[in-house]
Amino acid sequence: MLTFQQLQSITRAQLVQLVQPLPIVHLLTDSRKLSQPAGTVFFAIRGKYNDGHKYLGQLYAQGVRAFVVEQGKPEELQQLYPEANFLQVKNSLNALQALAAWHRAQFNIPVLGITGSNGKTIVKEWLSQLLSPEELVVKSPRSYNSQLGVPLSVWQIQPMHTYGIFEAGISQPGEMENLEQVIQPTLGIFTNIGSAHDEGFASREQKVTEKLKLFAHVELLFYCADYDLLHQQVQAQGIHSFTWSRQHPEADLFINATSTVGHKTIVVYTFAGEKQRLAIPFTDEASVENALHCLAVLLHRRLPLSDIQDRLDRLHPVAMRLEMKEAINSCYLIDDTYNNDLAGLAIALDLQASQPQRGKRTLILSDLLESGLPEEQLYEKVASLVQAHKVQRLIGIGPTIGKYSHLFSEADFYTSTTDFLKHFEPASFRNELILVKGARVFGFEKIVQAFQQKVHGTVLEVNLDAMVHNLNYYRAKLAPDTKLMVMVKAFAYGSGSFEVANLLQFHRVDYLAVAYVDEGVALRENGITLPIMVMNPSQDSFAKLRQYNLEPEIYSLEQLQAFLESLEVGAKYKIHLKLDTGMHRLGFVPEDFEKLLAMLAQHPQVQVVSAFSHLAGADEAVHNDFSEQQIAAFRSMASALENGLKYKLVKHILNSAGIVRFPEHQLDMVRLGIGLYGVEATGSEQEALRPVSTLKTTVSQVKSIKQGETVGYSRKGMADVAKTTATIAIGYADGYDRRFSNGAGQVIINGHRCPIIGNVCMDMCMVDVTGLPVKAGDTVIVFGPQLTLVELAQRIGTIPYELLTNVSTRVKRVFYSE
Ligand SMILES: *Cc1c(COP(=O)(O)O)cnc(C)c1O
Repeated sequence: MLTFQQLQSITRAQLVQLVQPLPIVHLLTDSRKLSQPAGTVFFAIRGKYNDGHKYLGQLYAQGVRAFVVEQGKPEELQQLYPEANFLQVKNSLNALQALAAWHRAQFNIPVLGITGSNGKTIVKEWLSQLLSPEELVVKSPRSYNSQLGVPLSVWQIQPMHTYGIFEAGISQPGEMENLEQVIQPTLGIFTNIGSAHDEGFASREQKVTEKLKLFAHVELLFYCADYDLLHQQVQAQGIHSFTWSRQHPEADLFINATSTVGHKTIVVYTFAGEKQRLAIPFTDEASVENALHCLAVLLHRRLPLSDIQDRLDRLHPVAMRLEMKEAINSCYLIDDTYNNDLAGLAIALDLQASQPQRGKRTLILSDLLESGLPEEQLYEKVASLVQAHKVQRLIGIGPTIGKYSHLFSEADFYTSTTDFLKHFEPASFRNELILVKGARVFGFEKIVQAFQQKVHGTVLEVNLDAMVHNLNYYRAKLAPDTKLMVMVKAFAYGSGSFEVANLLQFHRVDYLAVAYVDEGVALRENGITLPIMVMNPSQDSFAKLRQYNLEPEIYSLEQLQAFLESLEVGAKYKIHLKLDTGMHRLGFVPEDFEKLLAMLAQHPQVQVVSAFSHLAGADEAVHNDFSEQQIAAFRSMASALENGLKYKLVKHILNSAGIVRFPEHQLDMVRLGIGLYGVEATGSEQEALRPVSTLKTTVSQVKSIKQGETVGYSRKGMADVAKTTATIAIGYADGYDRRFSNGAGQVIINGHRCPIIGNVCMDMCMVDVTGLPVKAGDTVIVFGPQLTLVELAQRIGTIPYELLTNVSTRVKRVFYSE
């Protein structure tokens, strides 16, 4: 691998030469996000799960003409892609970083680097807002803080900017040096040190040491001296610092006291020998800490107190989530009220473009604030983004954007959100994928509400980032050429089949599997093009199966006979054979093979793609011997089939639990199910997965129950003492199991666990909230990260699979990414 210094020789000049004669340079690392081929340089990066070199041909066909690659013979590349320019390097990611580092070095402005376990993104967003009256800030979009995200962030610096704020996150030793060279921070904030990514480091000390490398050359580091580990190391290394503390009076900023008054926290502090007080518009601990970091920076800049207070008053929570949900008239909403700057808009448009099958693309966009660009130039950039992402309909809202209506085609403009809502005609929106992106002051949540279908109190929130994390966790266990089939049967284990399938397609899994033909048809109609296996196709659905290019699992001679009889002449078909090795559910046994092979020999137009079997007890160690027997039986049956057919089959037997327990038996493919949804079925690696789903409802009413009175049907809930109960809007018709009745189940309200009292009803149930601060309208967590499916399943003697798939389709699904 080349060193960083050697890579510095890749200059922008060389890159520009690469994209000649095109003036703009876009750095592309994800082939799916191409929007402007002209002037794009693609960096073919080899990651753990994918390899950018696979997409050269596709990108060339789409018009990209400049590539940074690691592999390939120059003559061959030139022959394959005659009009393209190639730059060959040892490591494309390092080349990207080196290029960004070179770019960064062209600008002599203060650059603040932020690292720490939590709060990086919020501190970055807040500081950039707090400094905006006098600085033109360039900052990382969202939480772009990785080896890849940091160079892309830094690449945004332009001559007009006066201040940079970039976050850096690492998950193991040896990563921060690169990020330091890219960001070249002159100032730093170390937010805090907690447990995040502990698994990547030998100790907390090591984690602090590694993270501190970001500040190797800063002029000043802001941090809270109450984190002992951090404080010791900063002092030992002699990094010039500005400390704040609640414990050490000698800190630069000493926090004498904090107290909560209404929705504010009053901070009494001592700075430069003077005692002062300020109000922070938050009360939770994390926000107060984040705000104190910002306060330290503002005080160090010697801003007048009244100014500081003024600016703090205008801080608001940062909406970190980008939500996707169904809306009126078969529309679908992407709700991104995070902030509204150019970089954020580009990311949200990428996401919209990644769902091509959703119908017409509509963008509802407010004025962009604080871009620092002259208006005309700003909206020209917006227009080119809108055009590059093939937005078909634009609704511009605000006093400014409308002045540039000539830049947009098919667009309507309104002066304010109220103005838009006054003219809102629901019927004029149909089958559209609507991205709602507005700066906070425009109050776009009102627009989102107007578009949403009737909101029931109960929603299942699905965290798409957690799902991707789980997918990658299992992928990391696979040998490089093991294929991955993901089970999206039963409405993707209750999570919502289309959204999950779409995510999996985006992340390039090899196969999907559903239980019934209708499930496969629904995926095809929503634009899923991955191969799909149908596990239990009924004979009357064979025609549909072929019409929608779905591949049947064939498990018996009778079924095969029926399938063969239904074939049309001349066409080719793909099937999968299920073998019974001990589950005794569906599948061929060796005695069937002679007939099976004879039938297949007569129908050469039918290709057996794969042979597979299913483990009956992979989740439990007591069955390991049995599982091994199943695997051995499968191997020998599959090779008998291959010998008979005279061609190779894709062979697969492992489910989620099997992937964890029998890594040596991955064969050609594995079938991931429950693990994707956050439950590790063997129980031994649960900590490594992220919970995906949170089921939430609301409190409908709070009641006082006198001693001796009863609650609910059959008078099962007995108040032995006076109680307070809350009636919550979920019942067994929503999938809340009736076995949770009478204390078996618990929910969480305002952080407190509350037991179910009485029997669960069809649409509601009652919980005991005696002595707790609970009121109508409060949010109730039925299951989620704090109250796990594993625990709840144990409480009523079932398995997480059942709880997940029981959540009724009348419960609205909301998908979000962080
Ligand atoms: C559902 C299913 C799986 C996935 O099982 P998990 O335990 O959820 O991983 C794999 N193979 C077959 C045949 C299945 O029906």
